[in-house]
Amino acid sequence: MTELFGTNGIRGIVNKDMTSDFALQIGKAWGTYLQRKTDNPSVVIGTDARLSNTMLKYSITAGFLATGCDVTDIGLVPTPSLQYTVRMKQFDSGVMITASHNPPEFNGIKGIDADGTEFSKKTEEEIEGIYFSKCYKLVSWDAVGSYKTWDGANDLYLNGILSTVDIDAIKDHGFHVVLDCGNGAGSVVAPLLLKKLGCKVTELYCEPDGRFPGHPSEPVPENVKELIRTVKEEQADLGIAQDGDADRAIFIDEKGAYVWGDQTLSLFANYHTKNKKNCIVVTPVTSSTSLDDVVEKNNGIVVHTQVGSPIVARVMREKNAVFGGEENGGLIFPELQYCRDSAMTLAKMLELLTVTERSLSSLLSDIPQYIVVKKKIHCKDSIKQEVMRSIHDDVLNDDNVIRIDTTDGLKLYFKNGWVLMRPSGTEPLFRIYAEAKWSRDAEDLSKSFCTIVQDHIQKHERT
Ligand code: MG
Repeated sequence: MTELFGTNGIRGIVNKDMTSDFALQIGKAWGTYLQRKTDNPSVVIGTDARLSNTMLKYSITAGFLATGCDVTDIGLVPTPSLQYTVRMKQFDSGVMITASHNPPEFNGIKGIDADGTEFSKKTEEEIEGIYFSKCYKLVSWDAVGSYKTWDGANDLYLNGILSTVDIDAIKDHGFHVVLDCGNGAGSVVAPLLLKKLGCKVTELYCEPDGRFPGHPSEPVPENVKELIRTVKEEQADLGIAQDGDADRAIFIDEKGAYVWGDQTLSLFANYHTKNKKNCIVVTPVTSSTSLDDVVEKNNGIVVHTQVGSPIVARVMREKNAVFGGEENGGLIFPELQYCRDSAMTLAKMLELLTVTERSLSSLLSDIPQYIVVKKKIHCKDSIKQEVMRSIHDDVLNDDNVIRIDTTDGLKLYFKNGWVLMRPSGTEPLFRIYAEAKWSRDAEDLSKSFCTIVQDHIQKHERT
């Protein structure tokens, strides 16, 4: 288990955990790691729209320069735009300064490998090892790295997305889209993408602003009420909300209904596996059974992984998957790149609506519906693993459990649904997911396992 990096890079509160000194040290550790791998390493750095970005960007850059890495600064970019740039422009590493959907007082650092995928745990552990040992390899005065800026990254990325869809066919449809960038990094790409695809665009909060004045940047139902209202009022074809660094997308259908990430995931899984055989779709164990239902109906195969988009992306590449993603709106389309990508998701959604000549609500009516209940329970990091083990020991004696899956946490299958209990990788809590065909079953499963987790936490807190 890494100590600095969580499920999605390093995150913390600015000038408390995420200080300029810390960023400098990380830059030196990361630069030392790159020096061990290659001569004259090159690094590309980008940021989301947060107010503390400049402070962290220049601090970490100083660390890279001190260890002899050349740094190219591409400014304000969505995370997938940085990932695309790393691979297409052949940088040795990418740095994204972002805290994704977290509140404005947070910021973070995310690492990207040369192939454009997020850092593996192994890479993170190596950098952490150097950070904690403080064995930085500082270079001599004449080998200090160079720094330059480049403003072509978002155009490169935009053209990459456009190359994967039939622009003219989408243009002919003349879609009306309400776009809510939540004042995040998506603002610098998504409006332009929609205009290039001939859409009439109603923009909400498409000005980058690290205070997030529009609404909190997590696109959950309570934060996108205005988007829902606008889709209905303007009778638009589609609404879309992006999270802070624009790797995740949530849609609103033409009737104004909020489309859960699981539904979008199943919709695209269906699209990518229909009329084909043995196609592979990759998703974490948290995803809905509706995805298994549609893929299996199409004679495809679902591979379940641990939670975390870097894992999903790597397994997709290994297995040559046609599609993959997470239930939070983070969808991965391998024809562009192996990373979560909201602008690509938007382009592919317009392609789907164009090809099928159906509305989003009509397409969703093909997808089996399940009820998911998600809960969280506070649990100290120090006892998480013991709690997990003791719950596991207990359920071995439960005759109602049909199948146990320990890919990530503990997933128990019952006749009427499943429950997943897993310690969070980023926060001191347990997440409990319960899914069933019927609401009462899902609620009952959730309630009884929340009690079980709570009991085990209390038992371990006492000892
Ligand atoms: Mg994000």
